[in-house]
Amino acid sequence: MEREKQILANYIKEKGLRKTPERFAILEKIAEYKGHFTVDELFAYMHEKNFPVSRSTLYNAVELFLECNLIERHTFDSNVAYYERKFNKEPHNHQICTVCGKITKHRNRDLTRQIKHVGFRGFKVESYQLNLYGICKKCQREAQKNIEK
Ligand SMILES: [Zn+2]
Ligand SMILES: [Zn+2]
Repeated sequence: MEREKQILANYIKEKGLRKTPERFAILEKIAEYKGHFTVDELFAYMHEKNFPVSRSTLYNAVELFLECNLIERHTFDSNVAYYERKFNKEPHNHQICTVCGKITKHRNRDLTRQIKHVGFRGFKVESYQLNLYGICKKCQREAQKNIEK
């Protein structure tokens, strides 16, 4: 967390931005947040944690963190942007439910290892993303219930 704060502080200084405490508080909350989040989810989370900020403050902070490479953005075939923290991130794939939109992490060491060893014709891979679209357990159960009715 300290390193992330340092990166943000340096960036703010470099760009001559105001060093507002909100930005650092938002960064802390992102580090606490489990999983992927939308700005709306983060907005609700900040309120829940008794640190209410306005939506525009949140949007600005998220843009700033993207510029500093502290978070990354995913769109997952919809127009809703999801974010996640970049630091201390374990490599994972995304499982996206096409019914309810729920995103879960999928980890598989063999798959990660295999991707590393696939030849890419001289292309140096720095990162990759694997997104799996399908139906989550809960939605499968719901569908099953409807059939049984
Ligand atoms: Zn992710
Ligand atoms: Zn679902």
